[in-house]
Parts: sequence; structure tokens; C-alpha cells
Amino acid sequence: MAAIELRKLSKHFGAYTALRDLDLAIGDGEFLVLLGPSGCGKSTTMRIVAGLEEPSSGEILIDGRRVNDVPARDRDLAMVFQNYALYPHMTVGENIAYPLKLRKVARPEREELVRAAAKRVDMLHLLTRRPAELSGGQRQRVALARAIVRKPQVFLMDEPLSNLDAKLRTVMRGELKNLQRDLGVTTIYVTHDQVEAMTLADRIVVLNKAVIQQIGAPAEIYARPANTFVAGFIGSPPMNLLHGRVEGGSFESEGGKFRLDHAGGELTLGIRPEHVSLAPDGAGHFTGTVFASELLGDCTILTAKSGDALIAAKLPPEAGLEMSRPVSLKFETGRMHLFDTETGERRG
Ligand code: ATP
Repeated sequence: MAAIELRKLSKHFGAYTALRDLDLAIGDGEFLVLLGPSGCGKSTTMRIVAGLEEPSSGEILIDGRRVNDVPARDRDLAMVFQNYALYPHMTVGENIAYPLKLRKVARPEREELVRAAAKRVDMLHLLTRRPAELSGGQRQRVALARAIVRKPQVFLMDEPLSNLDAKLRTVMRGELKNLQRDLGVTTIYVTHDQVEAMTLADRIVVLNKAVIQQIGAPAEIYARPANTFVAGFIGSPPMNLLHGRVEGGSFESEGGKFRLDHAGGELTLGIRPEHVSLAPDGAGHFTGTVFASELLGDCTILTAKSGDALIAAKLPPEAGLEMSRPVSLKFETGRMHLFDTETGERRG
């Protein structure tokens, strides 16, 4: 186990900045998730920690020791990638044993460790199979066993579940979380999937355009997004963002006007769909016409439109309404978020 610290890490590819002044401290045994859209710099961060990529500037510390000049193989990290990177000509057992062989662990001990790791991921009965004879989920288990077999200080996982189908992904997510908790190994996990981030992380780091947007526990990030990017990125459907203006204690936007105690000027109001409900005609905060009404089984997502503004509400399944019908929506006032329209930063 190890604590990791990244100090003012930057990475430029020619004129392009993939990572800018990233400061991050990862606790011993922590499960940290790097979350962000494609190209935001997640994999670059991971590759720098792994030693596969050199930073343009900044420092990487593992347990207080600067490792910028330590080669990847000496950093005591185990990596798991989305394509598993198993050796096709080796059996499951040989694949799992490979890191031990590299370290010249004697055969009897190696066999014992391989069996223990395979057992941990429920692959003991398939040790003699080759990767081509395994399902995607089984291959991912082998990759995990290979990562845990030599008890590394740190796990680095880059979208390890993204090649699995949705159902298997949910199962493997649970297994991965339990495994990490049992082993207590410090883990950095990269994903663009917010559900994965919410369910796995002790803390989430939201990245966008090479810069950290917010760091916090999943519940904290969900409840108090630091800016409109985080607000719109986490949550499904995402938080509604309504651009408007405050004047004389009233917020006015397309679709509505209501009392809001806030300094005057442009303001973006955020409200999550689960905090929006149907109101009697004209009595809500937002009035428009039904733009979409989607039954998802356990709920209906109703979207109302007024001019360019759209507001989604998460309603009981039976609440569906016909298209184009006028509708009024009420916001839970204690659950409103306020953002600066220009900078996107949180204001309240
Ligand atoms: P994804 O989810 O798509 O993998 P990511 O957040 O992991 O995205 P990175 O792989 O970190 O993104 O890449 C960040 C940016 O840096 C991207 O715009 C990418 O095109 C660029 N980049 C990465 N590696 C190189 C390279 N070797 N040369 C030039 N540009 C690169």
C-alpha cells in the first residue's frame, strides 16, 4: 500500500496541453476515480503515474519518494487495461504467473500464489484454458488476478470494464470494489462512466480540458457540484440548467418568473430532474409544453420546453403526458443550485 502525490503535473504534446498543473494527493488504501469526457487527460495522468509517459513538468511521489526518474517496472504498480493485454499463447495459469516469473519467484511459491489469486477471482477451475477460450468477463478476471498476484503497492486501472456488456459490468464492478476493499491497495481508476465513478470511488476527481474541476466524495459532488460542467456531467438525466436574470428579487427566464433572493444580474439556475414535479396549471416555476415523455419502467422522464429552454422532470411512471400539452413544473426550492452564467462557477 502507498500514498501517491502529484505536484503541479503538466503534460504538453507539442502545442497541445493534455494536463495542466494537476495537484492531487491520494491516500494510502484509497480508491480514487478519475472521471471526465474523452480527451480530458485521464489516461495521460495514469500513464504518468505508471511511468509510461514523462510529465513535461511536475513531480510524482509514492510514499513521499520522488519517482519521476524511477522506471515503470520499479514503481511497484499493477495495471489493468480495458483490452486485458493477456498473452494469447499462454494459459490462464501462465498469464497470472507471468509477473512472478519476471521477478524470479521460485516455482512452488509461484504456483501457490497463482492458485490463491485465481481463487480470489473465481478462476481456479479454468487455469489450463487459453484466453481465446474465455468470455470477456473471464478474461477480465484473469487480468485482475495477474494484477493482484504479486501484491503491488498500487493498482492503476484504465476503463477495465468498458469492453463488457452492461449486466456483466455491474457484476464485475461489485467484485472489483470488494476485491480492492479486502486487499486495501491504493487504486487509481480511470473512467468516463459516471455510474462507475459514483459506485466505486472513495473520492472522484472530475477532469475536463486538462484541468481538475472538482475533487470530492461521490455524494458531495452530486449534492454540491462546483460548476456547471460537473453539474451537467454527473447525474442521469443531468441537472437542468436554466439561464436567466435576477432583478428586484425575481429570477426570470424563458418559461418562468419567480422570487429568488440573490444579487441581481445574469444567473444560471440548476435543478436536478428528481427535484422537479408537476404543478397545477401556471402555478409552477416553469411553464412550457411537453417536449418528450419517456417511460423508463420505474419512472417517467418528462421534458418541457419553453423557447430554447428545456426542463426535465423525473416523475412517477404513470405521470406521462401527451406531447405539446401545456405543463407547469415546480422546483423543490431548497434543492436549487445557482451558478455564475459567465464562468459557470457555483454561487449558492
Ligand atoms: P479517453 O477517455 O478518450 O481515453 P482521456 O481523458 O484518457 O480520453 P488522454 O488519453 O489523457 O485522454 O489524452 C488527452 C489529450 O492528449 C487528448 O486530446 C489526446 O489526443 C492527447 N494525446 C494523448 N497522447 C498523445 C500523444 N502521444 N501525442 C499527441 N497527443 C496526445
